[in-house]
Amino acid sequence: MARLLVKDCIIIPITGEVISEGVIAIEDDQLFYVGPARGLPPEWVADEVIEARDRVALPGLINAHTHAAMTLLRNFADDLPLKTWLEEKIWPQEAKLERQDIYWGTQLALLEMLRSGTTTFADMYFHMEAVAEAVIASGMRACLARGLIGYQDRLGLRLRSAEAFARQWQGAGEGRVTTMLGPHAPYTCPPEYLKKVMAAAERVGVGLHIHLAETRGEVEEMRRQYGRTPVELMESLGLFELPAVAAHCVHLTPLEIEILARRGVGVAHCPESNLKLGSGIAPVSEMLSKGVKVGIGTDSAASNNNLDMLEETRLAALLAKGLCQEPTLIPAARALQMATLNGAAALGLEDKIGSLEAGKKADVVLINLKQPHLYPVYDPQASLVYAARGSDVETVIVNGKVLMYKGEVRTIDEDKVMAEVSRCIEKFS
Ligand SMILES: [Zn+2]
Repeated sequence: MARLLVKDCIIIPITGEVISEGVIAIEDDQLFYVGPARGLPPEWVADEVIEARDRVALPGLINAHTHAAMTLLRNFADDLPLKTWLEEKIWPQEAKLERQDIYWGTQLALLEMLRSGTTTFADMYFHMEAVAEAVIASGMRACLARGLIGYQDRLGLRLRSAEAFARQWQGAGEGRVTTMLGPHAPYTCPPEYLKKVMAAAERVGVGLHIHLAETRGEVEEMRRQYGRTPVELMESLGLFELPAVAAHCVHLTPLEIEILARRGVGVAHCPESNLKLGSGIAPVSEMLSKGVKVGIGTDSAASNNNLDMLEETRLAALLAKGLCQEPTLIPAARALQMATLNGAAALGLEDKIGSLEAGKKADVVLINLKQPHLYPVYDPQASLVYAARGSDVETVIVNGKVLMYKGEVRTIDEDKVMAEVSRCIEKFS
């Protein structure tokens, strides 16, 4: 058994009070003990020790919605409406992408996420075998779904391969990879197609990852075509009887919020992408107060344009305050909970990850607080939400393995990734 001890750090467990000086004892892939040093049995001896004075430890951040390989299209097309951006800029380029491109684009995303403290992400894209291989090699954790566009899949071949992928990769990489089915959105997947996807998800025993109620235009189109709003339409199809994570949920009626809460739908709030594409601001406080499981996602690097979850978390907190003209909304502790435990719950992983508690998987991030922009520290949670940035992350542990130590990534060759990405994007010019 491998025993790793993280010593003398401030600990934000998410599920309990902040521990001003504590230790984290890890056995193999699990947290054995989290708390003050005096609570660790004296006979417990570590094989490896990480000295973490002046560091704060928190659970790995969970990016509840992204398209990792779209790092290849970072800065490719900006300042456009969603429909034009997708149909005229993004989709034509994506049609050129091959398996190897997806692999290297994902590697770049993994590198960026790891460097900024994300340990788990929910991904929807294509060539997902390449994504799964990259995730497994990196040591990170991910919930993967092959994105499905109904009107491009008249014969159902993509759905069949998505189902096979979900079946084959569920639990791969010592359980670090989980799978879902990924119907893109109600406006790209008509009800008859969605029903087929739901049947496939049921056969495999997995949930669904979908974009929902992202723009005002989507809501109007669904109303016109089906006489229902996007969430009402999904409810009428029975889609929420399966575990589901819905990205965006910007335009919701009180009734729809009630449906999301009652059905236990996970929501991936992606504030930066929603702002950049001019989609609007999701009613996060209302959703949280009704008990909706709202996590945070970055969406892709093509509409954000980075995968920095600390930045996204700060924006989520600030937007809710500004939108409602109420500074007490989404306090720092709640914002961090959204970026960790709520994200885990949205992905159905709350029993495994999202908080630092004995028995959970050892996904831990260390941030150095002894830096000019973070000093002094009265409240470490507020310090992280309102002042820290992704680049402050120093050490990252996933499943008990140290993937980054003091800024050195151990599992991904950074120079090679940059060189391969440059080669992949030659086809866009
Ligand atoms: Zn998306």
